[in-house]
Amino acid sequence: MAASNLQLRTLTDDHIEPGIEPVQFNLTFKIVQTATRKCKDALVDSAGYSYNVKRNTKTGRDWQCVFRGSGTTSCPASVKERDGSFIFGQREHNHKAAPGSETAKTIKAKVKQDAVNNVFMSAGTIVEQAIATHADEVQTHFSRPKVENLIRMANRAREQLRPNEPDSMDFQIAENYIPQGFLRKDITTEDGQRHLVV
Ligand SMILES: [Zn+2]
Repeated sequence: MAASNLQLRTLTDDHIEPGIEPVQFNLTFKIVQTATRKCKDALVDSAGYSYNVKRNTKTGRDWQCVFRGSGTTSCPASVKERDGSFIFGQREHNHKAAPGSETAKTIKAKVKQDAVNNVFMSAGTIVEQAIATHADEVQTHFSRPKVENLIRMANRAREQLRPNEPDSMDFQIAENYIPQGFLRKDITTEDGQRHLVV
């Protein structure tokens, strides 16, 4: 009968080879609801790995590591969720627990770019915006650089840009660094004096 076939197949799927103990760590798992970009649940473990749903089963879900690597190097690690319990699969992760490092890079790049392009925006605001845009709470803490470090990075990027102090009267005003309406007049008199009216 079709129904019993289906049940048999499900049991086979869940079957763990005799003699091979599932790898057990002191891992804890946490489901992050509707947190991925496509509004699906995600699973994160205490070792710093993230998983997405591979398939739903009658009593739970099969999760697979989100690490895709390049080409055929996808991570084979998986987790079975059954009746609210989590069992780590038989295959180990094939990568370090930092699948969020790409995201961290994106956040840092955005902070540097905005620090240079929006010189009047506070470093704090820039960092906040970069995190709001790119951080993904499903990913491990490796994906979220420390806020203090990001602020320092923004300020350093700006320092490198800041024009040098002028050493004579004959300097160019870096107008990008002056708020609009701040400098009203730039007058050089006939005797070589210069007056900046603000
Ligand atoms: Zn993995």
